[in-house]
Amino acid sequence: MSTFLLEIVTPERKVYAEDVDMVIVKGTEGEMGILPNHVPLVTPLNIAPVRIKKGRSEEVLAVNGGFVEVRKEKVVILAESAELAGDIDVDRAKAAKQRAEQRLTGKQDEYDFRRAELALQRAMNRLGVKQG
Ligand code: ATP
Repeated sequence: MSTFLLEIVTPERKVYAEDVDMVIVKGTEGEMGILPNHVPLVTPLNIAPVRIKKGRSEEVLAVNGGFVEVRKEKVVILAESAELAGDIDVDRAKAAKQRAEQRLTGKQDEYDFRRAELALQRAMNRLGVKQG
């Protein structure tokens, strides 16, 4: 079976670079499975899991925003943050979730509300990926 190079990059580091069979991302326009020789495109991503299929194994990362770029020679996910399931600190995500929930119930302006909503989404995404 043919494969393609998948890179997942954040402003901090290259999180992932391997030959894979398929990657499934959640774009702002829905879920998209990318196989080898996919037509080139760029599309924004949600705060959501990214699933990678490689042989018999499947890996999942918690990806926060950014976009996916399908090029001729590789697929690049450029995200604000991305963690492999094994690298996720559950206690930290639970604490972030709790903080965000408290901020959402408190009185505040719209900007703070949106920020808290996004922080909650990041925490829920990490916890969801960790639970598999
Ligand atoms: P926190 O409030 O706990 O910092 P956050 O959602 O604000 O959470 P981000 O700004 O998205 O954090 O990420 C900052 C850095 O910390 C990134 O490198 C990200 O990969 C990492 N990170 C954030 N939360 C976790 C976690 N629960 N486990 C592992 N790495 C994490």
